[in-house]
Formats: sequence, structure tokens, C-alpha cells
Amino acid sequence: MTTSIIEAAKSGRSKCGGCKKKIEKGALRFGEYNDRYESYRWYHLVCGAAIDARDFVEATEEFEGDVGDVDAILEEAKNIGKGTKTPRVEPASSARSSCVVCSEKIKPKGVLRGVLYYEVDVDNWRKGNTHVGCMAEVSDLGRDDLIDQVLENSLLDDEQREEVIAQI
Ligand SMILES: [Zn+2]
Ligand SMILES: [Zn+2]
Repeated sequence: MTTSIIEAAKSGRSKCGGCKKKIEKGALRFGEYNDRYESYRWYHLVCGAAIDARDFVEATEEFEGDVGDVDAILEEAKNIGKGTKTPRVEPASSARSSCVVCSEKIKPKGVLRGVLYYEVDVDNWRKGNTHVGCMAEVSDLGRDDLIDQVLENSLLDDEQREEVIAQI
């Protein structure tokens, strides 16, 4: 059961729960109902669709007015959160991180590195960096699923995508 809604913002004071920016007065916003606080958490439509696509679509069906192109909003939402989810690859921000698989340094700065959760101990997962080629060693996903997820979660150009597919 959903109680999430879409409505025009009644004031310009609400802040988006996704991107943290203000939601303009009158702009359509997506409200995710929080049972515990008995209140809505507001999002820009795209940010809301990124948080919970299914709830968002249900809310658009309930909404009496014109939401616009829902498919286009969902498509745009896919790009939100890219570069923050795991597993992903990203350019190393320094040459100081070490690979949690082989313990070698990940260098030079700017080289693609993996970011993922790995099991340090039984049921104890920690986020760490790996060489792209070492990711599959510690991922709980099979190689194909790992590649799929990494490509979905990472901001990459075509050349980098090829590199990732070749190396994982
Ligand atoms: Zn937002
Ligand atoms: Zn490694």
C-alpha cells in the first residue's frame, strides 16, 4: 500500500530529500509518506523517482493533473545516484589507496579503481577499494552481474566501459 503522493509545492520552503536543494513553490513534488514521523518527505519528481521508482509511478497514477512524461522522468532518474552507489568504478582520487584483494597500491592517481563492499569477516561487510581486475574476487556477485551493476552505477565514457568489461 502506498500513501506517497504528488502535489504542487505549497511553499518554497521544502527541501528535496534527494539532492537537498529547495523545491520551488508551485513545482510538482513527490512526497514519500513516513509512518514513523507521520509526515511526508519531499522530493523533486526526478529525485523521487530515483529513490523509489515503483512508488513514484503509483503516485503519478493517482495524481489528477499532468505530471509530464513519466518515462522521461524515470530515464533521467536512472542517472541520479550514479557515482555514489556500489559496486562501481571511479578514477582514483589519489595514489594512496590499497587494493583490499591483493594489498598492492592502486596507482597512478586517476586510474580506475573499484569501490565495493567486501566481507572482512563473517557477516561483517566493509566498503573498500580494489583494482578493477580484482573486484570479482571479493564481490558476492557473479562476474556478469558484477559487470552489469558496475556499468549501471558508474559514470563512465565508452572507452572506460570497454576497459571495465575487459578487466573485471
Ligand atoms: Zn532533488
Ligand atoms: Zn588488486
